[in-house]
Amino acid sequence: RKYVLAEVKECGGEEWVLEAGDLPVQRFLLWPRKAQEKHPQSLGFYFLLQERNHDGSIHYVHLPPVSKEQETQRLAARGFLPPPQDDFADLCNLPVLSEDSILNNLRTRFYKKKIYTYAGSILIAINPFKFLPIYNPKYVKMYEKHQLGKLEPHIFAIADVAYYTMLRKRVNQCIVISGESGSGKTQSTNFLIHCLTALSQKGYASGVERTILGAGPVLEAFGNAKTAHNNNSSRFGKFIQVNYLEGGVVRGAVVEKYLLEKSRLVSREKNERNYHVFYYLLLGASGEDRKEFKLLPPEDYFYLKQQNFKIEDEEDLHHDFERLQQAMEMVGFLPATKKQIFSVLSAILYLGNVTYTKKSTGRDEGLDVGPPEVLATLSDLLKVKEELLVEALTKRKTVTVNDKLILPYSHSEAITARDSMAKSLYSALFDWIVLRINHALLNKKDMEESVPCLSIGVLDIFGFEDFQTNSFEQFCINYANEQLQYYFNNHIFNLEQEEYQAEGITWHNIDYTDNVGCINLISKKPTGLLYLLDEESNFPHATDETLLAKFKQQHQGNKYFIPTPVMEPAFVIQHFAGKVKYQIKDFREKNTDHMRPDIVALLRSSDRAYVRQLIGMDPVAMFRWGILRATIRGIAAFSEAGRSWAAKTAGVVRPISRTPLGELQRSNTQIERMYKKNRSIKQKNIIPKNLLDSQSLKFIVSLQDRTTKSLLHLHKKKKPPSISAQFQTSLTKLLETLNRAEPFFIRCIRSNAEKEEMYLDEALVVQQLRYTGMLETVRIRRSGYGAKYSFQEFIGQFGVLLPKNATACKEDISPLLEKKMGLDPTTYQIGKTKVFLKELERQQLQDMLHKEV
Ligand code: ADP
Ligand code: MG
Repeated sequence: RKYVLAEVKECGGEEWVLEAGDLPVQRFLLWPRKAQEKHPQSLGFYFLLQERNHDGSIHYVHLPPVSKEQETQRLAARGFLPPPQDDFADLCNLPVLSEDSILNNLRTRFYKKKIYTYAGSILIAINPFKFLPIYNPKYVKMYEKHQLGKLEPHIFAIADVAYYTMLRKRVNQCIVISGESGSGKTQSTNFLIHCLTALSQKGYASGVERTILGAGPVLEAFGNAKTAHNNNSSRFGKFIQVNYLEGGVVRGAVVEKYLLEKSRLVSREKNERNYHVFYYLLLGASGEDRKEFKLLPPEDYFYLKQQNFKIEDEEDLHHDFERLQQAMEMVGFLPATKKQIFSVLSAILYLGNVTYTKKSTGRDEGLDVGPPEVLATLSDLLKVKEELLVEALTKRKTVTVNDKLILPYSHSEAITARDSMAKSLYSALFDWIVLRINHALLNKKDMEESVPCLSIGVLDIFGFEDFQTNSFEQFCINYANEQLQYYFNNHIFNLEQEEYQAEGITWHNIDYTDNVGCINLISKKPTGLLYLLDEESNFPHATDETLLAKFKQQHQGNKYFIPTPVMEPAFVIQHFAGKVKYQIKDFREKNTDHMRPDIVALLRSSDRAYVRQLIGMDPVAMFRWGILRATIRGIAAFSEAGRSWAAKTAGVVRPISRTPLGELQRSNTQIERMYKKNRSIKQKNIIPKNLLDSQSLKFIVSLQDRTTKSLLHLHKKKKPPSISAQFQTSLTKLLETLNRAEPFFIRCIRSNAEKEEMYLDEALVVQQLRYTGMLETVRIRRSGYGAKYSFQEFIGQFGVLLPKNATACKEDISPLLEKKMGLDPTTYQIGKTKVFLKELERQQLQDMLHKEV
């Protein structure tokens, strides 16, 4: 009897039922992972075969655990053949399209160390948790100017195609990376950035390229941490936009960051760590530094030792610190700046060691704060007066219309105030670092000569999260992922199918799972969860409970809002990637977690300029201000008129730098708008290359005028927008940027939950394929047309193959495809204004072109 290991038919719990087609042995159960846990000596697969006898009865055959090779041999001896080993580099070429065939193909490829697979131009990347030797410069070269699909799928292929498409079409590109935590997004981003800078290099890395490469490790040290799911989990989202000169040379970059997880700083789940940089510093600093920053052993810090504290990778951390220092130098941090940063880090750690006790003497109801040596060290590191520090740590100051109230904190309020100070300092530090990196990336020389015109953006945002306890942070993260999934769906399904319709080509629509309902639940005015949250955050008598009640009352019956037991202080959302239960605790507080005014006042009083700088400025404003100044300088360089304008403007811009935080945020919008206008004016060549005409000058001056006026009118202090509102704004901005660019998608897939090398847990992979809509994606990529050209583009690119007098119309193009190439009519269509081709046919056309040329 010969049996073939066939496809997975059912999968329930941890038992997988496989069926071997219509062959006599019908089913067997397979527990690869379970068996390994139960039998640690087992190296590979463990089977329990359930065989059906000829009379229909069943008997079991236990096969003791052995290595995978032995297992394969033993199965072969019993008549099982290993599954067929053919694989397809592009899922669109699978002979049979089903969830099983996709999984089988990905698995077969994965075990051949082919972790990348295409679905048309979408790249699927399965994290192997093991570095493969496929990222050296030789590979960058190999993929340079290649045609997508000609070589083995690779992440460099995407970078290369994005780069050359940008140069050819003169259109900005973006690469959107998605996947759950630990699926390889950040790693992929690093590979992409590496390749995107290498492509522009003519031999050696220029200053700005080095800065771009250094930015990654610095941001990761401060914004990543070891979590239960990922040893290097990003706790913030980032969008890196690499800007190029027309000729394709890197000229600068911009980093945008989203939502750093502040709560990690003061508490975390079991087995999770604080931000990397603390451990790097504590284990890597020299004796001298230790003294200067007053460092203690890691286990002496309350903020580090909560929840079973252990550090098993001391050696690595030591090297990591060295690497961090190098990267900091690459982004232009001088030794003095590094010292400033490290002393603030040390202060943050000391804050955690501040303790409170009830005042034992007198009738005073306040708290004693200590220990004295911690306070003294803190006051020394931050260069603030100890009395002021103690005051800020123990008393709340409230300013009412005609009175100043000073009230002592209760014990728990004091702890919250202390933690809030630590969190504020750290997030200010992080913002400051992002800002400084952006300044370094701005490439001032270019900035003065012209304004960026081409770019490739890479988005590495925190992946979908569903932890044991989920809170406000997960809520925001998962909402961002919903938006990205929507963006993906919109591009892959909506826009694509709308275009087919508009072009009038024959087409049957393909269904997909739309997640717009979930997005509406969260963000639709006026009852979306985010709006309710803001409402309740502003309402002084509201509590987390009233917030939850409001959620429930407004969204009862919504199919994306799953009911929970009445008493449970939580709510459940049906996300595209699965149900997630959020604990309502602290939602309001986290949503309004701004730097407290008394903390701001304290830090402003510091004798250390660096500390004042950290909190005195809205970093976003400072960054934009930098751009604005550079633009003004650029304009001044254009002409005499430009110079006199710049002189006038400089007077207006300077006050911006001295304006308080809240006001700056409002003025930013204006400044940015002005900057954009200015840029589009230049791009449209309204301003001649070397001269600024008086008309546009007037226009810019009037814009600047309005900015000034609005600045002057901003006397009323307004509350800064809530965290979720800020996040929503930056997300909207991001989506606008993405919508203006041509996207490439990378779908990262986590191979297993245990971070095990080269092991693919099929159930986990299937789950990810399912919620990302992979089957439907491949289906549309397969029946749709991967390549599209407007008639003009087509003539531009393939004109050589057409008769001399051919024009950009259907009649002239059609004979080439139909007669000369003899294409199967199902493989291409010519619409009203565009030619649509399948991938293979596009390649055929390209090949023909190469032969001709
Ligand atoms: P994410 O950003 O999606 O949470 P990461 O990019 O941090 O995930 O990946 C988690 C870990 O997986 C990395 O620290 C790295 O060890 C490993 N990893 C990810 N991608 C690859 C890859 N292409 N090759 C080898 N290891 C990888
Ligand atoms: Mg990451």
